[in-house]
Formats: sequence, C-alpha cells, structure tokens
Amino acid sequence: MVYTLSWAASSTAASEVLKVKHSLVWSLVILSLVILPAQGARAAQAAEVRDAWWYLEYQVGLGPRNPGSAGHRELTQFLQAELARYADTVLVQDFSTVYDSETLAMRNVAGLFLPEGAAAATTTAAPPSLSPYMIFGAHFDTRPRADWDPDPAKQSTPIIGANDGGSGVAVLLELAGYLAERRPPFPVMLAFFDGEDLGTTAADMFLGSKQFAAAVNPSDVMCMILLDMVGDADLKVHMEGYSASRNPALTAAIWDGAAAIGYGSVFPRATRHYILDDHIPFLERGIPAVDIIDFDYPYWHTTSDTIDKCSRESLSIVRDVVLEAIYGGRVQRLFSGM
Ligand SMILES: [Zn+2]
Repeated sequence: MVYTLSWAASSTAASEVLKVKHSLVWSLVILSLVILPAQGARAAQAAEVRDAWWYLEYQVGLGPRNPGSAGHRELTQFLQAELARYADTVLVQDFSTVYDSETLAMRNVAGLFLPEGAAAATTTAAPPSLSPYMIFGAHFDTRPRADWDPDPAKQSTPIIGANDGGSGVAVLLELAGYLAERRPPFPVMLAFFDGEDLGTTAADMFLGSKQFAAAVNPSDVMCMILLDMVGDADLKVHMEGYSASRNPALTAAIWDGAAAIGYGSVFPRATRHYILDDHIPFLERGIPAVDIIDFDYPYWHTTSDTIDKCSRESLSIVRDVVLEAIYGGRVQRLFSGM
C-alpha cells in the first residue's frame, strides 16, 4: 500500500489549536504517520548546547537499544522529546514484528525542518504544498546479538552499538539543533529508523526504513542521505557501491562537498563495499539515495563496538559534510528542476 504524505507547516508562530487541527486531519490523511506537537525553533534558543558527542554519550549510557529493551524504549521517547524542541513537526510511525516468537513494538521517529518562507506561511486551512524535501536518515536500534564477536560466549549478547547505531543518530541530533537556528534552503526531514539491525537476513532487517520508504511519496522527496557507522576514530568514508552506481551525480556532489571543505582524504573517491542498508528501500522506490558509511570497522557486531572506538572529531567531520550537502548548493542544484 502506498501512502500519500504531505506536511502541515506548523511553525512556532502557529497556535496550538491549529496544530491540533492539523494533527487530526493529517493523521487521517497519512494513516500510519502521526504528527505530534512540536515547539519549533524558538525552544532551541533557550536550549543547552548538545553536540554529537553529547548525544553519543547519552545513547551509550542507556545501554543496548535493541527493540524490546529498556534502552530502546528510553531512546524512542528521547528522540521524540528532542525533536519536539527543535523541529517544526514531529512524526512517528508505529509498526511491530515478531522476533524470537515475541511481538516487538517499533517506532520510526522523524522531524521536519522548513525553510524560512514555508515556516512563516502556517495559517492556511489547506496544507501548503512543500517543495521537495531532503531526508537524512540513521537507524537508532542496536543489534540484539554480537554475532561477530571473537568470543563465542558473547555472541548472543546485545551490543552497545556506539558506532553502529549511536554515531549516525548523534550527528542527526546535533543537526536538529543547527537546523532550528539556521533554517535550510529547502525542507529537511531527519528520520530515525527502528529495526535496522534486528534480523539475520535482508528480509528481516531494515524494518523501519522499509516502512518509512513505503509511506513517502517519491515525487515529494528530493533525495535520501543515510548516516551509518560514521563515528570510527579511524574514519575513512569510501563511496558505497549501490549509492555510487545508482546515483553517481548525487554521490559525487556529496564527496565534492567534503573535498571542498578540506575532508578529501577522509572521503576517498573510490568504492570499497556494496552494503545493504537503510538506503536500499528508498532506492527501490526510485528515490535517489546515498549511504555515508565507513564499513572498515573491526568491532562491527561485536561487544567491542564501544565509545572508545569513536571520536568527537569524526562526528564533527561528518556533521560538516552534511551541512555542506544542505547549504553548499551542490546537491540542491542537481534537483533544481524538481
Ligand atoms: Zn549493524
């Protein structure tokens, strides 16, 4: 089933009444994606500074965040609360799956950030038709078992997932604060996917991104950029194979941006791996999608994927490359005919 997604532009200027009205109308229109109240940019002004490293430490402090765990429940609530501080609109999408004969509740969480003009035009009865939006995604769940741990006794232990899960979320959350301060030139959606790392085969992985990709209207989406495993202290982000072969111009635009701001050596213009990840469901819907991932990480799916393997600098570099993709103009020019 294909859902039609459109967005209510409820900025800080909109009244709560209007927002409630929108949320009722829109939950009918978009079915599984529910719009929650958001405080928008104004709240960010009073917020403490929380950078990506702060967000990574916070997540790791929750322990494992695999679906069904206490850490997973806490992080889901935290993502909603944090986006409500910064985004114009917060959306959630609930779904469930059966794992180990147990039904697990899962939830995608997303925040929409509008450009200046769209944010001001909030009071029309009819929802505004937004220009195509860019999605930045990351999965927030962590793997329930350390399959690749060298110690067989630990292979059924949930991982902490500092890099695999934590790092992408950390960068996106810092970005939320930034987007609230400096509005993007086009609508930007930050999407936090659940259930990426639960299963053992592609059929039972990427659960949240499959749901999310099915719910968007491809013609509304400019492109989708995924962040996964971007915290490695020894960071080298090669071009991911499916991204580079399916969307060479978009991939080149992002890597050109990285080089332009001095990170050409961290973002080598070569492909090393083809990786099935949360960008694939978007590619399959015809949405240009690129996975920013450093898959050369010896602690992948082990109990050693801990914060000491990550660095503040790596998160900053990826944040800057993402900011360049939004504000630098290269990506926008590719889609200027949309
Ligand atoms: Zn993983």
